Amino acid sequence: MPSRNILVINCGSSSIKFALVNEDQAQFTLSGLAERLGSHDAVLHWQRGGEQDSLIIPYGLHRAALAQLLPLAQDAAGGKLHGIGHRVVHGGERFTNASRLDEAALQAIRATVPLAPLHNPANLLGIEAATNLFPNAPHVAVFDTAFHQTLPAHAFRYALPESLYQEHGVRRYGFHGTSHRFVSQRAAEMAELPIDNSSWLVAHLGNGCSTCAIVNGQSRDTSMGLTPLEGLVMGTRSGDVDPNLHGHLTRTLGWSLEQIDHMLNQDSGLLGLSGLSNDMRSLEQARDQGHAGASLAIEVFCYRLAKSLAAMSCALPQLDGLIFTGGIGENSALIRSKTVAHLKLLNLELDKQANARTIRGASGPIQAHDHPRVLVVPTNEERQIALDTLALLN
Ligand code: AMP
Repeated sequence: MPSRNILVINCGSSSIKFALVNEDQAQFTLSGLAERLGSHDAVLHWQRGGEQDSLIIPYGLHRAALAQLLPLAQDAAGGKLHGIGHRVVHGGERFTNASRLDEAALQAIRATVPLAPLHNPANLLGIEAATNLFPNAPHVAVFDTAFHQTLPAHAFRYALPESLYQEHGVRRYGFHGTSHRFVSQRAAEMAELPIDNSSWLVAHLGNGCSTCAIVNGQSRDTSMGLTPLEGLVMGTRSGDVDPNLHGHLTRTLGWSLEQIDHMLNQDSGLLGLSGLSNDMRSLEQARDQGHAGASLAIEVFCYRLAKSLAAMSCALPQLDGLIFTGGIGENSALIRSKTVAHLKLLNLELDKQANARTIRGASGPIQAHDHPRVLVVPTNEERQIALDTLALLN
């Protein structure tokens, strides 16, 4: 059978990331980003092999961007596009796996909008535009939450009145599931362990950050909760704060809910702590030049990450390895070494040289001799979404 091509689409409110994945090729055939959708300088950037170009889509919305993108993808696939995989952030309790997109699935995703008001509406816009433009291709939704539907109740329930869970779905869902699943499977292959008989801690550290405990290929606990705000310090998100903070800021400063939401999601995290940037590269440079805020942001980030990993270890019967992934996890030897330095009680220790050289797409073990495995594993959510889409087409 000739190898198949899947177009993977990730729609945000003002952007669309895309990749054309061929099942037999490691590199994407076509990839790119449409950004600033809805503004006068909306633009679609794409690259294919050595070639790259940008197309202006004045005041273009998602449909206009996809109308430009789909012929490009068809062409790059040699006219043989076998399906479209859509990333959907929240699948609630309804979706425990990827799903073919029919009317019932669409209804269920719409019903989940109150749980992810920032993300699911944009995902739905992309799905609706793409299914209209390309009605004959199979469309599949792959959910960020689905992998974590194996969490036991003691990990997913909040200590809140039962009715909030039963009637309103207030529980921990977890996100980044596609990445946690991809890297844990890769790690098991690298360590030559069967995924269904192995235990992993994962730190996915990008602009959003989360940890996960994975036992026998199943998520048993994760740091994000009802929304992607819970847990670790992130680029602009605070992660955990005292749940009374909302009340405190309203009573003492008169802040509205919108102000507080905005502050916690956009102005906090590395950016809030450093007063400088949400970008770890900039913070590392500034720290080297003696910037106190950047230095503090890095210390808090690593300590909170280590605390979360230690907490996740409660869900493991044994530790086969700690996995670092995401832009920071794959590239920052400093963050990895500072985090692991807090985890002496798990007997973790890094090999300095291996840690320093395993960056920029390299993968491999970085632990010191005779210490538990620590692996750097580049994530590839697009490939995992394409694989899930293909699995449903089979
Ligand atoms: P992602 O969302 O996975 O693309 O990750 C974005 C984050 O990775 C940003 O904070 C970047 O600063 C960080 N990052 C990328 N490259 C490096 C690097 N060489 N050193 C430190 N952080 C990096």
